[in-house]
This record gives sequence, structure tokens and C-alpha cells, in this order.
Amino acid sequence: MPPEARALLEEAIGVVCTQAKLDPKSSIAIDEMQARPNLPVAHPEAQAGAERAQKLLPIAKELVVSSLRRLVVDYNLDKSPRLQKRLQQAIARVNGVKRVRPDVESRDNASVYLSRPHVITFGTIFLAGLRSDEGMISVLAHELMHIADGDNDSLRVLVAAVGNKASELTGLDLQGQRGEEITCDLIGAMAARAYVASTPGYESIARRLARSVQHNCVEIDEGDEDHLSPRNTIRALLALHPVMVRELLNDREERAQPR
Ligand SMILES: [Zn+2]
Repeated sequence: MPPEARALLEEAIGVVCTQAKLDPKSSIAIDEMQARPNLPVAHPEAQAGAERAQKLLPIAKELVVSSLRRLVVDYNLDKSPRLQKRLQQAIARVNGVKRVRPDVESRDNASVYLSRPHVITFGTIFLAGLRSDEGMISVLAHELMHIADGDNDSLRVLVAAVGNKASELTGLDLQGQRGEEITCDLIGAMAARAYVASTPGYESIARRLARSVQHNCVEIDEGDEDHLSPRNTIRALLALHPVMVRELLNDREERAQPR
């Protein structure tokens, strides 16, 4: 990445994590969620989160399908008949998801068990910590992208392309599962951005966009074999999405570029 682009990216991360402190609806950072005690399903904040998630699931599904189609075009994979067929099957899997299941033990995680592909299991701490529609749509879309990829990694061509591009831009290691995680995060950010564009309001654009990635504004920044560290996740994600970097910095939406 050229140094100027790198500097803008770091500045945009600053906007995201400053908003985390200023915005009353900001998402709680993952490390802060991890430190919290279990939250019962019946707790009002967990219940409010579960209702928000269930309410937004249909729109999140639509936005994942359109973002996924867009990404396939952006990575010049739309001419592959084999990928097109897999894409149709992936979309059918996304459309089959019906329900969010709140779960105390899942704490600050959300997951899909591919043996139960119609359900997203969502930790109650996580449900309570995502206090905005934008934050919730981003995480729902992340999980829906795992469902789209399915248990045979059927979108692996796309996932590898996204992972390779993020590696090239940032120098971070995005092999294997890490490539899938960053692709899910990218679809999450794209879905949240499309949601912001389609639901105009009085809140600042930068504030709303920041919510889509802000749970990664941690103090203790640790990754594992399958995941980049949270702050490097924001870095890789914004490297892949320069339009979002500009929108965060300028606090203004850009029109979709005609292709
Ligand atoms: Zn994931």
C-alpha cells in the first residue's frame, strides 16, 4: 500500500475507535465483552438485542445476497459458470436461515452449526453489546456469509481472492480460515454500508459506518490461528474497502461507482 493510503487508513481506524467512545449506540469492544459475566436470556439488554437481531435478519439476508453478487463482480469471477452455480446454491442457503437463537454459553460469540443451517446461535453478551442496527447487521451478515460458504467451502475461489488481496495490501498473513473470516467481515461491512445508504437519518454517516466494525476497537489486541487480531481485522477490512475509508474521513456517502 502506498504510504499516503496507509496513513488515511490509520486515520479512519482512529475515527471508528473515537466514535466507540462518543456514540451512545457504539458496539462494545470484544475484550470488554469477554470480561463480562454471563448474561441470562431474559435480561432486558439481551432480550432487546435478540429482538433487534430477529427483526433485522430478513434485511441482512437481502443485503448479503446483493453484497455477495457485487463482490463476485468486483473480483472478476462473474464469468465463471462453475462459481455462478455455486453462488446460486450459496444464496439458497442464506435464504434458508430463519432464526436467531440467543445462547448464554456462547457469550460474546455468534456461530452457525452447519448441521443446523437455519439458525444463527448468538451469545447473549454479544446480543447486548451490539447496540445499533448497523452493528447488528454487520455481525448477522458475517454469520450469513459463513452459511453461504457452507460446509464444503464452496466459495473458496472468492475467499482466496479476497484473502490474497488483503495480504498483498497489508502484509498480514491471511491464509486458510483467516481468509474466510476477513471475507465474512468484508460482507458484513458492505451489508452495513448498504443499510446506511438505504435508511437515511439524522445521525452522522461516519458514526453509523463506524458501528459496523467497532467491536474490534479493543485494548487487548490478540488474534489466533483462525483470526487476525481485532485491530488488524479493521486494518485489513478497510484496506479492502477504500471507499469506506474516505466515507469515514469525509463523513459523507459516495455514490456507487459506475462500472
Ligand atoms: Zn466468523
